[in-house]
Amino acid sequence: MSGLGDGQDGHPSPFLPLLAEVAKMRKSNLDATIEDVDDIISLIESTREQVAGRKTHPPHRMTSLANRPLVSDSHKIAMAMTKLQNPVKERLNGITDDLKEVTKAQRSFGKALDKAMPQQDLPMEVDAMAQYPDHVNRAIAIHLLREGQFSVAQTFLEESQCHSLVDDTYVLDPANPSTTDADDDHDMDSSEKDVRARFGEMYEIVQQLKSNNLVPAIEWAEANSKRLEAKGSSLEFDLSKLQFIWLFKGRSLGAMPDGVRNGQAGAFEYARRHFARFQRRHLREIAQLCAAMVYAPNIDASPYRHLFEIDAAFGEVATSFTRDFCSLLGLSAESPLYMAVTAGAISLPRLIKFTGYMREKKTEWTTENELAFETPLPASMIYHPIFVCPVSKEQGTEANPPIMLHCGHVLAKESLTNIARGSRYKCPYCPVEGHLNGTVRIFL
Ligand SMILES: [Zn+2]
Repeated sequence: MSGLGDGQDGHPSPFLPLLAEVAKMRKSNLDATIEDVDDIISLIESTREQVAGRKTHPPHRMTSLANRPLVSDSHKIAMAMTKLQNPVKERLNGITDDLKEVTKAQRSFGKALDKAMPQQDLPMEVDAMAQYPDHVNRAIAIHLLREGQFSVAQTFLEESQCHSLVDDTYVLDPANPSTTDADDDHDMDSSEKDVRARFGEMYEIVQQLKSNNLVPAIEWAEANSKRLEAKGSSLEFDLSKLQFIWLFKGRSLGAMPDGVRNGQAGAFEYARRHFARFQRRHLREIAQLCAAMVYAPNIDASPYRHLFEIDAAFGEVATSFTRDFCSLLGLSAESPLYMAVTAGAISLPRLIKFTGYMREKKTEWTTENELAFETPLPASMIYHPIFVCPVSKEQGTEANPPIMLHCGHVLAKESLTNIARGSRYKCPYCPVEGHLNGTVRIFL
């Protein structure tokens, strides 16, 4: 998505005034209030120390000096308490004022929010998904599975009675991925189960990664080494590299005991056993890691310091792992449901505008299953290039693919057939004539 400040269609974005309000809210924070509270606490604490300090004088002083010290103590306590009053009151007033500012900023933001995004009736006349409740439920179930919410997915499937997914023997249990269907006649079911089992595996590995255990991920990457390599993924090396650093730093992080398998000796041994096969692609990184061994006693002061900063590394490898795992399954790394909902949210303002206009003009868009307007999605959400024939205005399909003419212009196959005279054609966009034999199908 483009920046919040950019307007679509040249209209100013409704988020602009909101951003100003957010800035105001950030400014009117509770920092000063917290300081005041801290001040009050330290004032009270120091007074208490003064008072308690007097009370804990050795008792022999009081007996030897009769009642006088007690009188003077109580006097001093009263003095200390009186002294406390004004500064505390001052700060309490300060807190009230600060809170007023904060509430004011919040209220102002609320108003701006209502103004920027007034409640609108959503266009409900056409519900494109109404006929496909099973598709919707399936997408939700798959989303839950991807998120590792196996029991939620199970309950959802049972309660939604999603026919394409559920039957009596269908159990979603990641620990038991071999659970099978009694009847194997539903292709959809068995592929669903496979997906579910795979997600179970993926989820397990990601959980392990989150608790800093790289071993299952490394084993998976090793087993799929060739396919990962073919995709140009460096996941396997990234995991091994992190394992090396983790072993190397393990003891200092208190993560594992020192020993032959852990600590610097363990890391060295790990590198010796595993790094050789990555040499072709990652020689430079391996060389750096090995050179860093020289600085082992004080890595933080070495030129290799950055290599060993791994605060975010486990999260990063978990993300690349998920992406590569899904990619090998032929699935997108992002949940399709999430993408569909996001794309829908982006296009909703245009839909509202369009339906409002149509209602006003009392007209209708006759083409079913097609949006009457373009939805500008961000590049990250565009997966497949689309070809639209400039002559017929139809989208390219397997049966009617784009064909490039001799001159470089591209038409849909059917359009070309229509304009062809026998085996010859004349390009509708330039006067070049050619032979059908010289045309080339284009694969997007
Ligand atoms: Zn041409």
